[in-house]
Amino acid sequence: MSKTENVLIVGGGFAGVKAALELADNEDFHVTLLTDDRDLRYYPTLYRTATGGSRANSSIPLDSILSASNIDVVIGQAETLDRQKKIVTTVDGQACEYDVLILALGVVTNYFGIPGLPEYSYSIKTQSEVARFKNHLHKQLIEDNRPDLNYIIIGAGPTGIELAGALPEYLKHIMKNHGISKRSIHIDLIEAMPRLLPNLPKSVSRKVKSRLKKLGISLYLKSKVEGETADELTINGKPIRSHTVIWTAGVTNHPFFTSNKFVLMGRGKVAVDTYLQTEPNIFVLGDNANTPYSGLAQTALRDGSFVAQNLIRRSKGKKFKSYNAKEPISVIPAGNRWAVVLWGRFHFAGLSGYLLREAADLRGFSKLEPWSNAVQQFLSEFLYQDDCSICSLANSKS
Ligand SMILES: Cc1cc2nc3c(=O)[nH]c(=O)nc-3n(C[C@H](O)[C@H](O)[C@H](O)COP(=O)(O)OP(=O)(O)OC[C@H]3O[C@@H](n4cnc5c(N)ncnc54)[C@H](O)[C@@H]3O)c2cc1C
Repeated sequence: MSKTENVLIVGGGFAGVKAALELADNEDFHVTLLTDDRDLRYYPTLYRTATGGSRANSSIPLDSILSASNIDVVIGQAETLDRQKKIVTTVDGQACEYDVLILALGVVTNYFGIPGLPEYSYSIKTQSEVARFKNHLHKQLIEDNRPDLNYIIIGAGPTGIELAGALPEYLKHIMKNHGISKRSIHIDLIEAMPRLLPNLPKSVSRKVKSRLKKLGISLYLKSKVEGETADELTINGKPIRSHTVIWTAGVTNHPFFTSNKFVLMGRGKVAVDTYLQTEPNIFVLGDNANTPYSGLAQTALRDGSFVAQNLIRRSKGKKFKSYNAKEPISVIPAGNRWAVVLWGRFHFAGLSGYLLREAADLRGFSKLEPWSNAVQQFLSEFLYQDDCSICSLANSKS
């Protein structure tokens, strides 16, 4: 192929950025990355930022990832796709042309129509949601001079468990800063299914269950959330008083795909062929694609690399390779220096799991940034960051 191909990548997350990095500086392609955020959200460490860690640990500026490349970055929210003209248009009217389109827009929160949750619950999927949650925890301690009666986390998937594991220590830490350390804390983890981590083997669920019990978390299984008001959450017909409900229980595919009439499969994911192609020269990656391990950062990174390498193959006159889904290793932390690991048929938990998770985070950063930046990013795990002036002062002294 002689002509330079215009590759438009929509979505600056794991899959989109990985594809962009692998196509960058290749003279056969002109790459444009259209995304609605100037930072890459590093989701696996967001729970740490939500429990006192620094923003830097879970956010990587695209400028620093892409600075050495010739990729054009357009900031905007993709809204419509014109297949005839080969143009994606943003909400504010920017038009981006393409020869090849790569879509990696991620998923959005789904409240399943449960009344009150969108208004009253907290979420930890973006930096602004994390900041809102943290501000609430501190404000409550300042205004009420005591912790909430109940902190309720909904959803015992990986995110709910990570948060439940880290929250007791964080609350104790900030209560001490606020001079109210003698009050007890009550944290509930609510799950609609009969066990924790319903998608993983039962033995893994059992390990995590006993760990969370040790941390003092109350588990409510087979519990259906029916609604939330400003003062309480209703579960299985019973109201529980709380001003701190965190929703981690549901996501759905990005609305771009329904509004632009893509063919959708189970869980609303886009139908793709063995090259992750949904229509000629339109590729769908990561959380958006209907692949066996969609929904994990490791899969998204692999998808980005896979499609980029296939495009490079085609530019050299070679045939596309077929996609092989690879089962990722699951590592789920729950509290200080503890994580459970599921690696193929094997699983283990404890400090070794935690160390593996640390190594996985460092490796994850290094797939997106040069090693020196990745190490810096990794070390930012040990920084505290709270907007609350009382806690900032206390943290700076400790
Ligand atoms: C709290 C949390 C914790 C997680 N922890 C883990 C973990 O420990 N391990 C793991 O493997 N996976 C984890 N995941 C899942 C993992 O983060 C996702 O599978 C991964 O981010 C998917 O990558 P992606 O590129 O498909 O989408 P994303 O990384 O979500 O990227 C999508 C990008 O598209 C942009 N975008 C959205 N809408 C538009 C628009 N209209 N126009 C332009 N740009 C747009 C977004 O801003 C974002 O930059 C976690 C997810 C969450 C929410």
